[in-house]
Amino acid sequence: MERKKFLKQSLLAVPALYLGSNWLFTSCKKKDDIKPGDWKGDVIVIGAGIAGLHTAKLLLDLGINVTILEASGKTGGRIQALSGFADFDIELGAEEVHGDKSEWYNLVKGTPGVSLHTPDGEDYFFMNNTLKSETAWAGDAVLVQAQTFESTARNYSGADKTVHEAEVAQGNNPANYEISNALIGNEYGTSNTRLSIKGITEEDQLWSSGDKNYNLKTGSYDDVLRHHHAAAIDKVVLNSPVTKIDYNESKLAITTAAGKVYNADRVVITVPLAVLKSGKITFSPALPAAKTTAISNIGMGAGMKVILKFKTRFWDSALGTLIGGPKSAEMWTPGLGKSNAPILTTFVMGEKAEYLSSLGNDATNVLLAELNQMYGGNTATAAFEAAYIMDWGKQPYILGAYSYPIVGGGIAQRSALATNIDKKLFFAGEATNTAGHSATAHGALETAIRVINEVTQG
Ligand SMILES: Cc1cc2nc3c(=O)[nH]c(=O)nc-3n(C[C@H](O)[C@H](O)[C@H](O)COP(=O)(O)OP(=O)(O)OC[C@H]3O[C@@H](n4cnc5c(N)ncnc54)[C@H](O)[C@@H]3O)c2cc1C
Repeated sequence: MERKKFLKQSLLAVPALYLGSNWLFTSCKKKDDIKPGDWKGDVIVIGAGIAGLHTAKLLLDLGINVTILEASGKTGGRIQALSGFADFDIELGAEEVHGDKSEWYNLVKGTPGVSLHTPDGEDYFFMNNTLKSETAWAGDAVLVQAQTFESTARNYSGADKTVHEAEVAQGNNPANYEISNALIGNEYGTSNTRLSIKGITEEDQLWSSGDKNYNLKTGSYDDVLRHHHAAAIDKVVLNSPVTKIDYNESKLAITTAAGKVYNADRVVITVPLAVLKSGKITFSPALPAAKTTAISNIGMGAGMKVILKFKTRFWDSALGTLIGGPKSAEMWTPGLGKSNAPILTTFVMGEKAEYLSSLGNDATNVLLAELNQMYGGNTATAAFEAAYIMDWGKQPYILGAYSYPIVGGGIAQRSALATNIDKKLFFAGEATNTAGHSATAHGALETAIRVINEVTQG
């Protein structure tokens, strides 16, 4: 996800008065933001992704008894590394660290064996059936229009509509729709046809974690989680999908698929938004209308990474990202600046991901055909060695990529999702971030800090 690439430019155009004088520093949750109360009791955390693990870590630091119930057979949630496919770990979920003003950035920096870099690859754009570097396209009016649209889309002030409706209303050239879809909708975990332009404006105006993106030069995101959350990981009960939460009494009853019942005074729910949408967890009493409305009014849908390994590299050694493939949306070189292994990561969301997902393993052939189209002849197919498909929508306990604003939604919906119920059910996880950092790892971690302050109040 590189969605903050043009943030600096777009923010410059935002009137300072609207944002308030110290807006930049209001929402960047750090360790110092932990202001716990003195409540003590038994807590169950549901989900062992970054939000769940960090919540449990902070509770343990406060001497509070905690158990984490995790549905799958491993910790990390949407942080997963593919080891042994190349000479470096390939991130199948979160890959970039967005900004250097977050607690997550601090944890990454403080992990032995993990280092950061900002590889300076060149973007290549596929338009009018032609693949060229950004330098070679320089001055092309159709590409400039797409890039200008991308850099200003987050300053929108009209009636809410989808990003695609906005580009049509603005009279953009249809030849650049794939480019702007890759630059905007795909980065937000969906398609321009589903993403609210008002929603991304609202979220970006809150963004406070910094503009620079970092990749891991050594190690993996999972190494960071494991290093800082060892005590919390000890409290995880794997293969325990929660199916029912009964919060009628003061002691809550949490039932897993195997029929085991756990009791606790408070529960912190960190499962992905798509799991809440699916109804796989039932609540007694039923969730209040404000909560179910919020669950419906935030988007989360299909998303995939397809990792392609080749025998030889056929692209320019400086390639950073291939942008605008009608099937792939984006492909990048995850090893840039750290490995010569010829690997491409396809990062595809929304409608395009639904299509590729429907093909199963044949998605690889479609992507190779698109690369052949870009590079000519049979280039990609001839060089192909192996593929690894990570289809997040098909992960039974994730069911999608990450949350995004839909038309008519907005931060108010995220606040409603985050609000606790009767001081019994508490909600954390990326979709509950109200500080503009939803859909990110550092945003998920920040919700753990917020929820700790709530859970520990009497
Ligand atoms: C393809 C992709 C690329 C991304 N790229 C980036 C990036 O570059 N940078 C970045 O900052 N972020 C990125 N993200 C987003 C980031 O990964 C997430 O925002 C973050 O990891 C979410 O953490 P979480 O704890 O909220 O949820 P999760 O990690 O999803 O954790 C929730 C956990 O709940 C468990 N669960 C679900 N149902 C149940 C149940 N019934 N009972 C018990 N447990 C259950 C799940 O198995 C899971 O382990 C990316 C995500 C994806 C998918």
